[in-house]
Amino acid sequence: MQQHADQYIGGSWRPSQGGGALEVRNPATEEVIATVAAGTAADVDAAVAAARAAGRQWGLTSREERLAPLTRLRDGLAARQQEIAETIVAEQGSPIGFATGVQAALPLLVASSYVELLAGYEFQEKIGNSTVYAEPAGVVAAITPWNYPLHQVVAKVVPALAAGCTVVLKPAEDTPLVARLFAELVDQAGFPAGVFNLVTGVGSEVGAALAAHPGVDLVSFTGSTAVGRSIAEHAGRGIKKVALELGGKSANVVLPGADLGRAVNVNAANVFANSGQTCTAWTRLLVHQDQYEEAVAIAVKAAAKYQPGDPTSAETRMGPLVSAKQRERVRGYIRAGVEQGARLVVGGAEAPDGLPTGYYVQPTVLADVTPEMTVAQEEIFGPVLSIIAYRDEEHALEIANGTEYGLAGGVWAADEATAAAFARRMDAGQVDINGGRFNPLAPFGGYKSSGVGRELGRHGLEEFLQTKSIQF
Ligand code: NAD
Repeated sequence: MQQHADQYIGGSWRPSQGGGALEVRNPATEEVIATVAAGTAADVDAAVAAARAAGRQWGLTSREERLAPLTRLRDGLAARQQEIAETIVAEQGSPIGFATGVQAALPLLVASSYVELLAGYEFQEKIGNSTVYAEPAGVVAAITPWNYPLHQVVAKVVPALAAGCTVVLKPAEDTPLVARLFAELVDQAGFPAGVFNLVTGVGSEVGAALAAHPGVDLVSFTGSTAVGRSIAEHAGRGIKKVALELGGKSANVVLPGADLGRAVNVNAANVFANSGQTCTAWTRLLVHQDQYEEAVAIAVKAAAKYQPGDPTSAETRMGPLVSAKQRERVRGYIRAGVEQGARLVVGGAEAPDGLPTGYYVQPTVLADVTPEMTVAQEEIFGPVLSIIAYRDEEHALEIANGTEYGLAGGVWAADEATAAAFARRMDAGQVDINGGRFNPLAPFGGYKSSGVGRELGRHGLEEFLQTKSIQF
């Protein structure tokens, strides 16, 4: 078993000042596969001090000086794709196919996009007698969750470094191993000491100490809305910038005349992939009342393709959830749905057959869900699809917009113009039409309680910049 008592601070691996350890469990076998340092507020102090000191030089570097190590970091991500995928399978439970094709590939795509973007980005412009400079925001605290454990790290750290910021990363407790691998890649890429720092540990200790630290200028957080809210409160007191990527309860709206079969099958893939642990997952399928039973039948068939199984097998399409805590949470939601009158058409709260260990949940479809039910309002973060009937387009829009969230959505229609007009009225940061492909350069983020700020592409880079105008 790997035992890591060190943290990456100031350009080297140093023992944590606390000496405590956190266990990392394989969610399929339930075995402890590693321990990592349980960081402390003193580790956070050391990491922030290192980042502040490094920022004095790094913040003044040219685009080209930053591009060289960033390109080497991108190349390191490319060279270690297989190891990245296997690490994520072991600590997070993604099936190897998804871990390779998405969990490892997506951060590489994002890092590549920033190498290209940085090469062409202008950090200054003339406005009349002023020169306006885009300057780094300063020391960034990056706090990330476990569901896309490397993507979320890369989507924050890479644009922050590209902008000239320095970073302290606090990854999720459940997935620190891929974050350590990332720190190795940063180290090998040759960034100056202190530009990037990693402190592993518990959120309420290390995360909270980091977010509230007076030496931090910007907090970039992805995770639950509850923690996001407390981070924003602290940041308000310290007048720090924040970028928050929080929960979602996204609706996939199938308008009459759309390809219902494709819409429901793509929805199933979207909600069952990664065992439903995707903040943008279309967890509410909205179909016209006349097509309701047809949609339910298609969803039942589609769910059957996601029988949970061993994530190391290439055949497996759905693995376990990340932890026993998440499994219990999801089971609780399934029970609540049934108690409130939803019709369980496939799946359920019981453990799936034939899997003696692992935090597995059956792919579950709930029909006859009404908009006010808990399963239609709260983020479940598991493989649970709720199907809701609507009467007409206005009713569909009212249901789609009727939650506190506003992260993502889907619209399906016979013609793109109708779908786009509907999408424009949705409270959502990104909407896919007729299964539109993911675009790593398009801004990603939420409306309403789903967050503030944007990640990815130019918008994601600009989160880490502040502007100064000098008049001549
Ligand atoms: P969380 O918000 O508790 O954890 C996310 C990150 O924040 C982790 O690194 C954690 O250690 C850290 N953290 C926790 N408490 C903190 C605090 N007080 N101050 C600073 N940092 C803190 O999320 P979770 O417990 O891992 O998951 C709970 C729910 O959050 C999920 O069921 C899901 O609904 C939601 N979630 C959303 C996303 C997303 O991508 N939007 C990702 C993961 C989880």
